[in-house]
Parts: sequence; C-alpha cells; structure tokens
Amino acid sequence: MSYFSHQDGVLHAENVSLSAIAEQFGTPTYVYSKAALLENFSAYHDACQGRDALVCYAMKANSNLAVLDLLARQGAGFDIVSGGELLRVIAAGGDPGKTIFSGVGKTVEEMQLALEKGILCFNVESIPELHRLNEVAGKLGMRAPVSLRVNPNVDAKTHPYIATGLKANKFGVAFDDALDTYRTAASLPHLDVVGIDCHIGSQLLDDAPLLEALDKLIELIDTLHAEGTHLHHLDIGGGIGVDYGVAGDKPPVPVGDYLGRLFKRIDAWRAEKHGGQPIKVIFEPGRSIVANAGVLLTKTEFLKPGAEKNFCIVDAAMNDLMRPTLYQAWMGVQPVTPRDGEKLVWDIVGPVCESGDWLARERELALEPGDLLAIMTAGAYGMTMASNYNTRGRAAEVIVDGDATHLVRRRETPAEVFALETMMK
Ligand SMILES: *Cc1c(COP(=O)(O)O)cnc(C)c1O
Repeated sequence: MSYFSHQDGVLHAENVSLSAIAEQFGTPTYVYSKAALLENFSAYHDACQGRDALVCYAMKANSNLAVLDLLARQGAGFDIVSGGELLRVIAAGGDPGKTIFSGVGKTVEEMQLALEKGILCFNVESIPELHRLNEVAGKLGMRAPVSLRVNPNVDAKTHPYIATGLKANKFGVAFDDALDTYRTAASLPHLDVVGIDCHIGSQLLDDAPLLEALDKLIELIDTLHAEGTHLHHLDIGGGIGVDYGVAGDKPPVPVGDYLGRLFKRIDAWRAEKHGGQPIKVIFEPGRSIVANAGVLLTKTEFLKPGAEKNFCIVDAAMNDLMRPTLYQAWMGVQPVTPRDGEKLVWDIVGPVCESGDWLARERELALEPGDLLAIMTAGAYGMTMASNYNTRGRAAEVIVDGDATHLVRRRETPAEVFALETMMK
C-alpha cells in the first residue's frame, strides 16, 4: 500500500500532512514513511523465513543513520561500497559481521578498516584487487573472506547507466574468466574463498534476467565444487525495480514472487546436483526498500509561463535530486493541496544555473506561486546523490511514524558548506 495519500484534500505521509511538515521544517525536505520502509524490508525478510538467507540493504540508495538503524533492528545486513559507508553502519548500530563490501576501487585503507571491523565478505571485482586484499590481510595477520563478483553477461534491459551485468561494464569478473580468477584467489594464502556474487543492474521490472543470472552462478558453483572449492554463499545482488508511475511501464515483479521462484530453483538444484549441500543466499536490495518510502517536498517560488514552455520554478534542484537529469528519469509530481482552476503544462525546474536543472517535464497541473509539490518515489538515490552545487545546503530529512514526525537530518547551512575551506596564507 502507499503511505502517501491525500486525506481531506492534503497529501499526507502516514498521518502527517506534508503542509505541516513544510511549515515546521521548511523546504526542500525529504520525507520518509517508516511504515513503508519496514513493509518493503519485510517483503524480503518474510520470504527468507526459515532459510539460511541474509538481506544486505544496499545503503548507497539511502544511508541516513535513522534509516540504517530501523533496518538493522529488523535484522538487516548491509551492502557497502566505501569505508565511509562502513563507518555509517557502525554509527547506526549495524553489524559489520553482516556487512559485505562491493565496488571496483577499494583502497588499502578501506580494506584495512573492513578487516579490522570484521566484515562478512569482500565482493572482489578484479585480479589486482585480489592481490591487494591478500597483501593487506597478510600484513594484519588475517585472512580475508572473499566472494567474486561474476559478470554473467545477461541483459537486464534497463537504463545503460544502471545496467551492470554486461561484458561492456566496468563491474565484475567476466564469466569466461571466473574459473581462473577463483583458482588465483584459492592460491593466495591470506584469502578465504567463501562466495560468489553478481549484481546485473537496477530498476528491473522483471525477474527473468535475475533467474538467468542465477543459473549461470549455479553452473560455476558446480564446476568449482568438482574442483574442490566449496562456496558457502551465493549472492544474487539487488536490482528489483519500483513503480515510478511511468505511463506504459508494467508494474515491477512483487518481491515475494521473485524470491519464491529463486528459492525454488535453488532448492531443486541443491537436491538434484549439489548433494543437498546447504548454501546461504544473500540479497542486496537498495531501491526496492526505500524508493517508494520517500518524497521530496518542495515549494513553488515562481511561475514563468512562456510562448514555448511554461516553467514552474521550485526551491528544490538537481543538486537535491539528480535522477531526472542524470538518467532522464521520470518521477511523479503531486500537488500537496490540489487546486481547482485551469491546468497548464509545466516543466518543474530548480534555481540552479544549468539547463539540465529540471525535476519533471510537461506535467499538467493547476498551480499558483507558493504551492507545495511532492516529487514522488524519491526515497532512493535522492539524498545520497545530493551535492552542494551553487553553494546550496543539502535538504532536511524527516521520518514520519504514524502521527509523529522525526527530523533525522537537519538542513545544512551555506556556512557549513564552505566551513572546510581556507584561504591561502
Ligand atoms: C547499487 C547496488 C545494489 C542495489 O541496487 P538496487 O537496484 O538499488 O537494488 C546492489 N549491489 C550492488 C553491488 C550495487 O552496486
């Protein structure tokens, strides 16, 4: 269900009106629903009940400490892509022992930190990374748990910037090179080969490419098994999409259906070929946990109708929400208090000095200056991609829980934006 709906003519997050939030905290502000967040996580968690499985939330989608804390309390692990994200896990009370470290460019310092904190696994993406990790672990007198990110070369049929499982992507080890890479890993004294992983892309509406990827991973696990390398876990990555409301898009596959099909295949394979051997299954969902649990609340500053285009200039901008300009992403726009009156077709744009500074295009709305708008489904890859371009302080973040509102990140001031800078002596 949606936790953002109009009640008595005003858009609410759970039981709190967005106009009250704008009044109390100002705009632009990201507003999240706790219930939506927990419901999305439960879809994964419930489908894993009674199984050896772990849901590692891909926190680059939304890494606010309050979000991490809520998920950690539900038993979530985390998928991180930097040392900074590991420090966030720890600051939020998450368990490093349930944390996996993805990404193509891990530094020596990041590897050291992750080893010292005792993370569950490094998802390694190249041979030079294996050698670096072996060396770092050796210096610490430790063994590093590794999984190889295999590139199964399946087409996720998504936006090129978020398709990651094709040969032409920078991510992972090519499927044809995987066996040799595993042999290299197994020969290094300070590595423990424990798993296999992939992540083929994001915003997948269909699970067929994921199941295809699963079959390729299984094929490799069998070959490795025959060579005497036994993997403890299989990590299928994230990628399940959400309904952004794009006309003509089919709804995304329900998470429970996808996990049901995936476990069915894994069970059949284990019974048939894997000698009933147990294998832990790991998921790395990001977007599907947080996207529809958040909106970006913004206020109309000026209306600028014109001969070719009508512009609605709002106080949120591309620095707050990059998805439209970065991916040409379509995001829904809802007036907080819809008004009667003539509807015009508007481009919703921000105050930043770039023509790419737009949030939505060609939306039919009846608007007046001062009106509040909600950019819908903005909980993922919104705040985490925000920048300070134009010396704009980043937006506030609020979580609504029933009737209660919690400020979980206060608005950044311009002075804070340049506080780290000094003039030359
Ligand atoms: C971004 C990312 C994810 C999460 O992807 P979603 O599409 O948000 O579910 C998972 N794993 C890795 C390695 C990623 O880079």
